[in-house]
Formats: sequence, C-alpha cells, structure tokens
Amino acid sequence: MNKRLALMTVAAVAVLWTGAAQAQEQAINLYSARHYSSDEKLYSDFTKATGIKINRVDADDAGIIARLKAEGAASPADVILLVDAARLWRGEQDGLFLPVKSAALDAAIPASLRATPVADGTPWFGFSTRARVIVYDKTKVKREDVDSYEKLADPVNKGRLCIRSGSHPYNLSLFGAVLEHMGPEKTENWLKGMVANMARAPKGGDTDQIKGVASGECGVAVTNSYYLARLMRSGSPEDRAVTERVGVVFPNQSSWGTHVNVAGGAVARHSKNVPGAVKFLEYLASPDAQNHFANGNNEWPVAVGVKFDNPALKAMTAGKPFKSETIPISAVGANQVKVQQMLDRVGFK
Ligand code: FE
Repeated sequence: MNKRLALMTVAAVAVLWTGAAQAQEQAINLYSARHYSSDEKLYSDFTKATGIKINRVDADDAGIIARLKAEGAASPADVILLVDAARLWRGEQDGLFLPVKSAALDAAIPASLRATPVADGTPWFGFSTRARVIVYDKTKVKREDVDSYEKLADPVNKGRLCIRSGSHPYNLSLFGAVLEHMGPEKTENWLKGMVANMARAPKGGDTDQIKGVASGECGVAVTNSYYLARLMRSGSPEDRAVTERVGVVFPNQSSWGTHVNVAGGAVARHSKNVPGAVKFLEYLASPDAQNHFANGNNEWPVAVGVKFDNPALKAMTAGKPFKSETIPISAVGANQVKVQQMLDRVGFK
C-alpha cells in the first residue's frame, strides 16, 4: 500500500468513527476499484443531490475482496464497485454482497448485465461496459493480420506483441472468455503462441501498451477501449500524437465477437446503511451518472434508453455498433483458475 492509500485508509477509518456518532444515514462507505480520477464528479454530484456523503476507500478488485473477507461482519463497507465481471462473480460466490430488490435497477439494467436474481434480490449490477480491443502500428502492420484474438498468436506477428501481465483481471477475463469459445487445448496453444510473439516481457498498464505501439517498440497490443479514447480526447498534444500512428480493431467481428467486460457494483453483505447504499446504486443507473461513464471515463453506458455522445467512442467504431461476444459471466469467472494454470505452464508472466 503506498503512502497516499494508507493515509486515505486512515482518514476513512477516522471518518467512520466520528461518522458513527453522527447521523448514520448521511454517509455511505464506498470500497472502490474504479481508479479513474474523472469519477470524483460522479461522487460529488451524488452528495449534492442526496446530501449523503461518500467515504471512499480505493484498492484493486482483489484487494477489496480480500479486505471484505478479512473484515467479515465488522466490515464498515456499504457499497462495493469493481471493474471486472469475473471479480463481481467471485464476490457473489464468496457471499460478500447483499442481494438488492430495486424496481428502478431492474428496469434500468439489462438482465444480461446483472447477476442472476436469487430469492431475496439481485446480488450485483453492471453499470458500464468496456471492450478489450487490439491496437496496431498502422505504418508496419496490416489490419487483416490482427483482426482477431487468435491472430495475436500467429507467426506473422512474431516479435510484435505487447500486453500487460496475463494475470491482470482484464486479461484473465479475456482468456477465460477465449477458453469458453475455443476449448482448453486450443486456448493453451494460443497462449503459448502469444508468448512466442512478444516484443517484450509483459509490463505496465494498458496505456503503456498503446504508447509502445506509438513509439515503434510494439507492432500490436491489447488494451481496454477507454484507455485509447482517453488519449484521443486528451488536452495534451503529445497524448493525441500517440494515437496518430495507432489503428484500432474490434476483434472477431466475423466470428464470436469482441470481448466486453463489465464494471459494476453491489451492496456490501454487512452494510449498516442499506437504504443509502441502494440509493447510490440507483443513482449510478440514472441518465446523469450513465452519461458520466460515457463522457467522463469513455465507457459504454448500459441503462436502457440512455442517450450519449462521445466523439472518441464514435470514431473508434466508425459510428457503427460492433459485435460483442455473448457468453455468461459465470462461465468467464469459473474459468479463471484454469486460465492461470495455463499461463503458468506456458510461461506467460
Ligand atoms: Fe482500468
């Protein structure tokens, strides 16, 4: 944990102690894996609209799940936001979420983007989606050589591939989806082929892979769509220059479709402020908050009937809808362990 995180954690605990003595319903404790600074406005708008303050603890998905388990019934968490469908599934399996009955959430969030309802409600809801796309060096690489995930392992791309760690949730979910589409034998061979094609050992985040393509170090790379959109819309000329050499592909348009991941949220199992927590989730499904996901963090909103206008997202898809895969999130979640074992066997760091 770095110093800032530690301080924030200490601050959050301090707020909890003093908060308990004050009106409890006027604050919620949010454990968030959304690491996007543009979300500050999302939270302050909620407080402005409802008077409910948000005490936020930031960590990654795995850190949040570990912390909730360690805290058990004593956990001060009211709301949990995670940025990966498989982790949402994991949290549900581990009983960390309190199922919610909300007509507003049921009406707004499509059934395919929320957990399967159980007797006492729905354990979690997706609020935005992001595609895992392929970017490539337009000056060196042919688009048709990188228009599917399978081709990342093709010998034509030897020495070209840059990708973050295989064990990162974004990649584990992609590989878990591929396992569902191709079966174990082909998937392991595919992972082996990608290792053989790497321009460098996996390092950095998705933005670093895009920059690797722009600098010429990488011919092809994998990134979540919003990192590219962020560079395209950046106020900094250097950021925008990065995107000039970079082409983008929504992979597998002629087969099973592009892998799409979900960021979503849930009420914490041991929340002491369930009404406040539900109110926050309902706010995330509102047109204002949904527009924030589209324009603040360049994700696709999911709520039914929400209109949005994001020039970068439009440019990336040439204004047309793209084909996304349709497989159950539970299958992707259940594949994570198998995929990690394959990564270890083929030496994918
Ligand atoms: Fe991210």
